[in-house]
Order: sequence, then C-alpha cells, then structure tokens
Amino acid sequence: MTLATTVASCLVCDTEFEVREDWEKGEITECGACGQEHEVVEKSATAIRLDLAPEVEEDWGE
Ligand SMILES: [Zn+2]
Repeated sequence: MTLATTVASCLVCDTEFEVREDWEKGEITECGACGQEHEVVEKSATAIRLDLAPEVEEDWGE
C-alpha cells in the first residue's frame, strides 16, 4: 500500500484533512470544518498522530 499523502482525521468532527509534508512534531493545525486546533504529536513518513491542542483557557484566578 502506497500513499502519496498522509491524511489525518479531525478528532472532533471526523473530517479528513491533508497533512503537509513540512509539518513537524508540535505543529498546530486547525480543522477547516469545525475549527478545532490539533497538535502533531507523532509524525513519520507514513503516519501521523494528532491530539487536541491544549486550549488556552481564561484563568481569572482565585
Ligand atoms: Zn473538525
């Protein structure tokens, strides 16, 4: 099985989006469908693994 491009799926809405070759581990990418940000946590020539990017939460302190 030979794939020219690696495809990743949005963890929220399951939309597939294309992975750019120049992405590296730690890259943040946004789903074009729902806007959820994903972080590249693992990348090899044939596979990629995304995780939800940590959301910047407003912290009002206590
Ligand atoms: Zn999405």
